Amino acid sequence: MIYTVTLNTALDRILHIKGKIERKKNNRVCGIEYDVGGKGTHVSLVLSTLNIPNIATGFVGENKKDPFIQLLERKGVNCDFVVQKNATLRETLVLLDSTGEGSLMITEPGFQPAMESIRRLHQKLNQQIQPGDWVVFAGSPLEGFSLDDYRELLKCVVDNGGRLVVDTSGPYLETAIPLRPYLIKPNEFEFQQLVGKTLNTVDEYTSEIERLMAKGIKYVIVSLGERGSLVGHSGEVFQVVAPSIEARNDTGCGDVFVGGIVTMLSRKTDLEESLRFATALSASKATHTSSSTFSLEQTRQLEKQVRMMRRESVCCTWKSVK
Ligand code: ATP
Ligand code: MG
Ligand code: MG
Repeated sequence: MIYTVTLNTALDRILHIKGKIERKKNNRVCGIEYDVGGKGTHVSLVLSTLNIPNIATGFVGENKKDPFIQLLERKGVNCDFVVQKNATLRETLVLLDSTGEGSLMITEPGFQPAMESIRRLHQKLNQQIQPGDWVVFAGSPLEGFSLDDYRELLKCVVDNGGRLVVDTSGPYLETAIPLRPYLIKPNEFEFQQLVGKTLNTVDEYTSEIERLMAKGIKYVIVSLGERGSLVGHSGEVFQVVAPSIEARNDTGCGDVFVGGIVTMLSRKTDLEESLRFATALSASKATHTSSSTFSLEQTRQLEKQVRMMRRESVCCTWKSVK
């Protein structure tokens, strides 16, 4: 089974406004849409769209949880969240006008999970995770969520023989590293923060990726936005060049990439084919405005444009992968 864990869930309320949003003016709403917020939930949506059974867990507030869970279930995601009593699931207001200049987001702070909720999530993971299961922790918890609690949740996955996938940032990512996750996918900014220095060249990235592989992380994937990714596995480093597309919104590309790579690796597809697919899938997502929409037909076309190179360790040059 594949589980996704979202510690900071949200319901996105998208308000479409005709014309340009302006202050001191009545900005009339001409349409309202709801969408699922939170990173692990987006990975679940990708998995379900690709017909991969999965369970989404994490914390939700008792209030406003129903529309959130309905949205996920309608798209085929099985939900098994810990419900915190007297708490309200946070709402993110997304104001979208017709200028095409991008959205305005207003986010509520959300609730801090109670000790009892954390204990229940821990218990859930402990009871359900079987050796070989994939467990994706995506996104960061609400600021103030203790690093010790975070570590204990991740450790429970590892102790039960689960394949831990971590896509988070800052101190939470740092906390995850000693537990030797199966796969990490920081973006370039998250990776530079993790290693504590600015990285300017592919070689500089490569040596840091090698250091993390040596610590026992099976897949170290650093995503570089439109430039693709650098991937370390089995002592080797690959450079993946993303296809060139007309990007409309690259927010959420990382989540789609994670959904794509977990789909392929969990089906025991080889790394090269898995990376081609995840790279094309996330490039397709970038051409769509919503944060987890992609086209499989477009992905098939884009896959042909993905280029991959393997670093030759003896001469430190890059060789094309067929
Ligand atoms: P998220 O907003 O989901 O957190 P991220 O910042 O973690 O995203 P990115 O590095 O921005 O992740 O993107 C993930 C992958 O998506 C990239 O490695 C690349 O393969 C693909 N991608 C992103 N933007 C583009 C683009 N403009 N053109 C082509 N591919 C893209
Ligand atoms: Mg990005
Ligand atoms: Mg990301």
